[in-house]
Amino acid sequence: MTHEDIRAALSRGWLDKRDRARLEAQLAEPVHSQSAGAATDAFEHIAIEGDGAFVSATKQALRMLRGTSGWAHTHNIRRIRSCDTGLPVGGALVGDTAEFETATWQGDPKFYASSIGHEGVHAGGADGSADGERRALTLQAKVLRELGAPRATVETIERHAANPTAFHSG
Ligand SMILES: [Zn+2]
Repeated sequence: MTHEDIRAALSRGWLDKRDRARLEAQLAEPVHSQSAGAATDAFEHIAIEGDGAFVSATKQALRMLRGTSGWAHTHNIRRIRSCDTGLPVGGALVGDTAEFETATWQGDPKFYASSIGHEGVHAGGADGSADGERRALTLQAKVLRELGAPRATVETIERHAANPTAFHSG
């Protein structure tokens, strides 16, 4: 199975827990052919894997996040890398690796920073249940407020936090 196939399988809601865990473990294994030419850098305890533009955008987001209450949630994230699944999710946690779609890391840096905080809450034990998403989205909205993000953005995330299963699966 390619990583694309695995992600497609994971995006379906009907996997049982054992299948999901097996696929997530497969996805966490490094695929060296995909990382050819990739730079690896780090920010504090977090390794950053990707090209120069990704490393630069990620460091910028992490510097922002470090100034917020979201930073404390990053301690279980060991690695951040880019992915491009075409799935309608901005980010996902695979083991101790947070992955972000191109649209997320190339978009608003404050939103990217808040998305890293969101995956950090998952890395801290909040699963993909409605309650886990509520916790992740609530922290994400808090980070956005602390960063002075536009009110419309904050309110959108707060709305999703109130109805989490309708929005986010990662
Ligand atoms: Zn989530």
